[in-house]
Amino acid sequence: MTEIQHIDIAVIGAGLGGAAAAALLIDAGFSVHCFEQAPEFTRLGAGIHIGPNVMKVFRKIGLEDRLAAIGAHPSHWFSRDGRTGEYLSKIKLGDYAVSEYGAPYITIHRGDMHAEQIAALPSEIVHFNHRLVDLQERDSDVLLSFADGKQVTASLVIGADGINSMIREKLLGPEKPRFSGWVGHRALIDMNKLASTGLEYERCVKWWWEKSRHIMAYATKADGSEYYYVTGVPIEGGWEHETGFVDSSKEEMEAIFGGDAHPMVQGLIDATTEVTKWPFWNRDVLSLWSRGRLCLLGDACHPMRPHMAQGACMAIEDAAILTRALTQTGMAQYQDAFRIYEATRRERATKVQTISNANTWLKQPEDPAWVYAYDPIHAPLVG
Ligand code: FAD
Repeated sequence: MTEIQHIDIAVIGAGLGGAAAAALLIDAGFSVHCFEQAPEFTRLGAGIHIGPNVMKVFRKIGLEDRLAAIGAHPSHWFSRDGRTGEYLSKIKLGDYAVSEYGAPYITIHRGDMHAEQIAALPSEIVHFNHRLVDLQERDSDVLLSFADGKQVTASLVIGADGINSMIREKLLGPEKPRFSGWVGHRALIDMNKLASTGLEYERCVKWWWEKSRHIMAYATKADGSEYYYVTGVPIEGGWEHETGFVDSSKEEMEAIFGGDAHPMVQGLIDATTEVTKWPFWNRDVLSLWSRGRLCLLGDACHPMRPHMAQGACMAIEDAAILTRALTQTGMAQYQDAFRIYEATRRERATKVQTISNANTWLKQPEDPAWVYAYDPIHAPLVG
């Protein structure tokens, strides 16, 4: 019989939050292994905003400069009327973000960012093709069982396993996430096609229609050669598909947003070749973030509709605070660490979750400093 390997900290899921947690825990001197169900990660067609709040976390793990070199640096987050083009708000980013919030605000292809996060981890601690299928909480450890029959024991288990988290299910029982009633269309656009419109596309702009329908459009590369949009559209009924996303089309985009759209929006629709449609899922605020040796972070803990562009940022902030709490208490006092983590994170993460779901962020002029100036590496721990 082969002996079961024991590890100190198991991070389940090597997504944006899990990969950050692994890097931060290693940086703090902990022994950690990360288990990911996917055989590998591919460059899925999607962009992401990373606020200065989280660029400070990337600074801590040595990735800030690299990501800042790859990503685009929008001068503003503009909100505009989808028909008239009227400016509803102009939120300063660019150099202002660096001087006022302490780090750059970037927009980047999420596959490029994730690849940098994974490459920065020692390869021997990232275990692809490891789908956790069961866990058993025992007196002095947790027994983890994977789909291929492999088992390991861990002193602590961090559930960074996303919206359908198995660790969440162990803590709170089975409950499917709720369809929010909203979908998002996602498309990468060739900047050359947009250039042929003769219009100058802003590097980060959210186009708004009635009932909060919108198209968020932004550059995903420093040289401006790739442009991306994600929509938010309410639909009748539920998400009827078995799959996580389905193909959409330029015609569907035209039917929803076309006709009387501003010429820049029409240019975006006309330049669309491949576009996919994704459901947005949700959960109520969880009553519990940890129990015993299990602890949640990111979408496993507080999923949200993506309209504030801070879901992954919250996962990465979680990772930073959890690491600091464990550093303060030491492994043996993990229950204190989990308590400090939740006390420090719950109010902020819930506030972001609520505003993101409401889809009001930066539609009108407002001061975003409470989100962007926050420093997860130095902010006081609570409790
Ligand atoms: P995930 O990224 O979902 O990672 C979970 C990982 O766990 C996955 O790799 C999965 O394969 C793995 N896993 C799951 N179950 C198991 C198992 N049983 N065993 C092993 N591995 C498992 N956020 C931003 O900050 N800025 C944005 O601009 C932004 N834009 C968005 C746009 C859209 C359209 C959407 C849908 C989301 C957006 N978000 C954005 C939110 C962001 O994508 C999520 O909040 C973020 O990915 C959550 O990270 P996570 O690590 O918690 O979960």
